[in-house]
Parts: sequence; C-alpha cells; structure tokens
Amino acid sequence: MKSEISNLKLSVKSYGCQMNKLDTALVISALQDAGFSLTASVKDADVVLINTCSVREHAEQRVISQLGHLKHIKINKPDLVVAVIGCMAQRLGDKLLEHEAVNIVCGPTQIPQIAGLLKQALEKNEKCLAVTEKILLKTSESQNQTLETFESTYGIESSTNFHNSTIHSQYQHDKSLPHHKLRQSSVKIGAGQIPSQAFVRAMRGCNNFCTYCIVPYVRGPEVCRPPDLIIEQIKKLASEGIKQVTLLGQTVNSYKYEKNGRTWCLADLLDAAAAIEGIEWLRFVTSYPSEEFFDDILHVMAASPKVCNYLHLPAQSGSDKILRAMNRHYSAAWYLELLEKARTIVPGIAIAGDFIVGFPGETEDDFQATVELLTKARYKNSFIFKYSPRPGTTADKRLKDTVPPEVKQKRIAALLTVQEKVSGQLSRDFLGNQVKVLVEGLSKKAHINTAGGKNNPQLVGRTATDYIVVFNGPYSLTGQFANVKITKTSPLTLFGRLIKDFDL
Ligand code: SAM
Ligand code: SF4
Repeated sequence: MKSEISNLKLSVKSYGCQMNKLDTALVISALQDAGFSLTASVKDADVVLINTCSVREHAEQRVISQLGHLKHIKINKPDLVVAVIGCMAQRLGDKLLEHEAVNIVCGPTQIPQIAGLLKQALEKNEKCLAVTEKILLKTSESQNQTLETFESTYGIESSTNFHNSTIHSQYQHDKSLPHHKLRQSSVKIGAGQIPSQAFVRAMRGCNNFCTYCIVPYVRGPEVCRPPDLIIEQIKKLASEGIKQVTLLGQTVNSYKYEKNGRTWCLADLLDAAAAIEGIEWLRFVTSYPSEEFFDDILHVMAASPKVCNYLHLPAQSGSDKILRAMNRHYSAAWYLELLEKARTIVPGIAIAGDFIVGFPGETEDDFQATVELLTKARYKNSFIFKYSPRPGTTADKRLKDTVPPEVKQKRIAALLTVQEKVSGQLSRDFLGNQVKVLVEGLSKKAHINTAGGKNNPQLVGRTATDYIVVFNGPYSLTGQFANVKITKTSPLTLFGRLIKDFDL
C-alpha cells in the first residue's frame, strides 16, 4: 500500500443533480489540495471516487454495475482504492462496504473527512465507513461548522480552479488540436464546472418528506447556511471572475435564517448578491410550490436585471388525489394560480417543471389531469420521471407500485410529446430575435459540426431564461456574454448567428 498521497492520480465519476455536482467539485478541490491530481482514465488512477445519487433506482444500478467493472480491474490492480461517496453511501452504509471493490463509504455529511479517509485506506489497507447513524436527527453544531468550513474553503477554489486547469486551457493555446480532442479536453474536468459560473449552496437537506422521495433520508433535515457566509463566498467568487451564481437548495425558496433579530429570506439573499460588483446573473434552484416568500422573490426578480427570469417549480402531478398521496401541500388549481401570479409579477418569466408518472394508484384519469396541467402551465421544459420505489420512503412502505412498467413507459412518452409541442411553440417565438447568452464552451456536437473551422467552432450558451443557444464563434468567448440572432429553433435548442460588436 502507498504511504505518500502526493502525486497520486484520482479518477472521478459523478451522478445526480446540481447538489451532487457541487459536492463533487468541492471534494476534487479538497483532494487536489491534499496532493492528488486528476486523471480521466481509471487505468492510470490510484484512487477512483464515485459520487452517487439515490433518487431513482436506475442511478444506483449504474453505480453497482460500475463497481462490478472495478472489481475486475482490481484483480490486476489490487492497490486501487475505490471510494463511494454521497447519497447511496449514506443509504447503504456497511452493506456497500461489503462489496469487494469498495474501500471507502462516505456519506454527504462526511465529505470533509474524505482526504483523511483516503490516507487511512492507502496507508493501512483498511476499509473505512463514515456515514451518519441517525440521519433524521438535526446535524450537530460542530458538524455544521465542519461542513461550513469545507464549503467556504473549497467552494471558491472548486469554481475558480477551472480557469487554471491545464486540461481546459489546452484549447486556448493549442489551435492545432482536432475538434474531437477539443471536446474531450473540456469535458475531462468532469465536475460540472462551467467557466465564469459557480454553484453556491444556500441550504442542505430537506424537511418535506414527499412520500416518494429519498432525499430527507440521505441528506438529513434542512439546514440553511448563514447569509453572511453565503454573501462572503459570492464576493470572493466575483473577485475571481465568476459572473453567474446559482443558489442551490432542495426547496431553495423556503430559505430562512434568523440573524440579529432579522429574518433573511431568499429574496434578501438575491438582493444582497445582486449588489456585488462583477456578479451579472443570479439563479436559484429548486423551488417548492409555496406561498411563503413567493411574492418577495418574484418582486426582486422583476426589479433586478441581475436576477434571471427563470423559475424551476416542480408540480409532480396534476391530480389532487395523487398530490395528496405524494404529500405535496397544494392542489393543481392552486399551483396554476401560482404560475399565473409569477407571470403577472415577472412578464416573460420562463418556468420549468418536474413530473413523476406512474405513482402508486395513478389511474388514466389522474394521468390525464397531469397532461392538462402540463398543457396549461406552458413550461419551457419539463423533467419527467417514471416513479421509482425508494426503500424506506413512505410510498414504498405503504403503497403498492400499482402501475405496470409498460404503462409508466406509455405515460412518460405521452407527456414528453405534449411538452415537446409546448416547448416547440415557445422556442419558435424567438425566431429573428436577438438574445444575450453566457457562453459555456464548445457545444456537445462541436466535433461533428466543424463547418465553422477551428477558429470558429460551434459553441453553446444559455439565456437568462435558461434557453440553450448554439452558434459558431471563437472559443475565447467561453465564460463571456455574447449576443446571438436566432435563425432556427427546435423544442429544446435555439440556433443562431453571433452578432459581432460592429453589427450592433
Ligand atoms: N427538491 C426538489 C422538489 O421538491 O421538487 C427536487 C428534488 S429531486 C432530487 C428531483 C426530482 O426527482 C423530483 O422533482 C422528482 O420529480 C424526481 N423524483 C424524486 N423521487 C423520485 C422517485 N422516487 N421516483 C421518480 N422520480 C423521483
Ligand atoms: Fe424530495 Fe420533496 Fe424534499 Fe424535493 S421537497 S427534496 S421532492 S422531499
């Protein structure tokens, strides 16, 4: 076993939501500080770290099959250390540690310990388990403090070390690289970082206990971070060149923090962050349909050019019976009124939704109610999932998974078709318009669409309203704002032509 952790190579695989991507970025940053360097190849790696998601069974199955693959690799490479972190680590704990391939199991609350756990596994050849025993209890002050220090330290580095990354900067300097190499070089970063953009956690955990959802059982109760630390972090990010910050929380619109006799809500956070020089765009995800603070948040959005006119507000179902069974505290009609209010306060706001089809007891009528809600809601896009029973949740314990797989499949396809039609109509409204985008880098198909030549590759950016825009332009625009005239649309993508300064 290795006794030196400097110069060891780390391969990282990350599954799941933005919250997970943020954790992955923090962990990579911490491990780089500890002396590890990143490699894209498991073959070259001394340590493989997998950040896992438990929200649906499919995400867990992918990890299990990856561990099977790693077990084979370890036959010829017995010193390889495999660390499984995140929600699945917390959910399965010592059962996961029994897997032949696994050396470390580390829950989301324990990620600040990751460098120490790796050292222990590398030096002493020990299996290590670090999870929270009673996850439903409030986290202790000392745990919060440790997480806060970890977040404040690596929350800056993880976002800004992207710019210093040799892998990424390769493209800027090596104009001779073929397109497919360029694409690879920009994805190897792997932790979801996008130049000039950063994710900042506003809150951890969730108290809502929607009956289908594993999150409260793997991430624990809701904890809001102190506003001064969040604002301090955003100031530092701005001074490092970050232009867009996305505040993260499972129900981020319910952010609440009492300080010196004052209650801070998300609207206050957005207001304070908007005053920071250098920050141009602010976003927040995900919101829970609730009256609390809703108007305040939307008024800040309407008043501040920096707060992006975008709301991700999952409905989950359009049937009141199913919403009750899901323990969602609203009716379909009330939800639609909330959307109307949002559109009145912020004209032009883009709204995205989430739905689960095939929840236990969902009849054809219930499903048609969902189709109706989705049609009326006029979402820019929706994330639609088949119900996946999660062990330990109320739905799994009390309700039978009554909807057969083929019916779930039929319903998801039908709902996606309706959404595609709405998205297509909304996208077409952009034809001929000029939009401002924050450029993220090469498009997914830049290596295929090479007609622009290597000095004018296909780039991708996003509007403030979260529309994906594809156009050709110099790679040096990555991380910058650009204006694009829309010439073609598809339901999920706008295509256009870069407007040069002299065109304006
Ligand atoms: N906190 C957010 C909210 O309240 O809407 C979203 C959290 S969850 C990680 C993201 C999405 O996964 C949910 O909006 C829901 O649509 C979906 N989801 C959660 N549990 C699921 C399950 N058991 N089966 C299928 N989809 C699920
Ligand atoms: Fe899960 Fe509901 Fe919490 Fe969202 S609000 S994380 S769906 S329990």
